[in-house]
Amino acid sequence: MSLLVEKYGGTSVGSVERIRAVAENVAASAGQGHQVIVVVSAMSGETNRLLALADEVHKDPPAREIDVLVSTGEQVTIALLSMALDDIGVKARSYTGGQIRILTDDIHGRARIQSIDAAKVKSDLDKGRVVVIAGFQGVDSLNNITTLGRGGSDTTAVAMAAALNADECRIYTDVDGVYTTDPRIVPEARRLDRITFEEMLELSGAGAKVLQIRSVEFAGKYNVPLRVLSSFKPGPGTLITYEDKSMEQPLISGIACTLDEAKVTVRGVPDRPGIAYSILGAVSDAHVIVDMIVQNIGSDGMTDFTFTIPSTDLQKCIALLDPVVEQLGASEVVGDSDLAKISLVGVGMRSHAGIATTMFEALSEKGINIQMISTSEIKISVTIDKEYAELAVRTLHKTFDLEETTSVVV
Ligand code: ASP
Ligand code: MG
Repeated sequence: MSLLVEKYGGTSVGSVERIRAVAENVAASAGQGHQVIVVVSAMSGETNRLLALADEVHKDPPAREIDVLVSTGEQVTIALLSMALDDIGVKARSYTGGQIRILTDDIHGRARIQSIDAAKVKSDLDKGRVVVIAGFQGVDSLNNITTLGRGGSDTTAVAMAAALNADECRIYTDVDGVYTTDPRIVPEARRLDRITFEEMLELSGAGAKVLQIRSVEFAGKYNVPLRVLSSFKPGPGTLITYEDKSMEQPLISGIACTLDEAKVTVRGVPDRPGIAYSILGAVSDAHVIVDMIVQNIGSDGMTDFTFTIPSTDLQKCIALLDPVVEQLGASEVVGDSDLAKISLVGVGMRSHAGIATTMFEALSEKGINIQMISTSEIKISVTIDKEYAELAVRTLHKTFDLEETTSVVV
């Protein structure tokens, strides 16, 4: 008998009608003879509503209590869904994260799962029950409630699938799969039938919002076949899986775009050993995540040092670098948040030269100035002025024929 994990996001359980529709969907899977574990998010908007309440009570609410508060959103949906299942004659039991010992570390608000008590869930499944689990939450070793970060129910679902060795983890959401790029920017964007873990990881890291990045990491590590599909309309969705070398692979799978990055430049830095460490050490000590880094070739013993960070951290970062600038004898630190990062991702890049050149040529023909470039084996990212983000995405989607299924053997 096969085991499915089905995860339904906030919009999929956003109303009583939607919860009933999810129950029907789950009943259909159970009716086909699958064992089913369901993971649900809070009803759409609920987590934000709870966070706003916390902000009304306290200007800087304690992280432990935020987790106690926001974890209630998912407790509501597991109960309602289990009732809806019971109402249509499907045996179901709901559990909070703590009840099935989804054990995490103690970092409130972004906890990591360490282990899961699979035996408990198994015994329910063996009794013919659907098991409905609250996403996004766990407990630490002292039984404090923890949460996994925004979008964390995806990670709960994948972790359940890994722990119980499920045949597939299905992430039901409000889009019907992973697209070549955001269809709101490019109407010709195409749903992908399949994509590799690696590509999905790069796309999520580069701004594609479909899945929480940690869930993709987890799925890749434990080789959990992951499928993104719509809970609103039927369809095969997108399968995220390992690379099948015998299959044709697209040269480029997708284009991601982020608008929430900022650039920090330290100018006039004396070009001597240790400057990268002095600057970035201070930034990472403040838990600010650095993405791209560029150090220019120095002239007259001076150089510029530029890097990108989430734009929400820009003010904090500039403030913490002021004393560092003074210490180093650099001239100034400046920030710029009018930045977009555009990334091309595809495993086909490994074996095909010239993709970067084609990308740069296409952008230059539109007069778009590239500020920074970074590459990995299967990704090329550039930063450009925010104003040109949509034009760049549309141009590249066309240049690489992403509206057509063009495949190459890699
Ligand atoms: N309810 C949480 C959030 O809104 C977790 C999730 O939906 O995955 O981020
Ligand atoms: Mg989500």
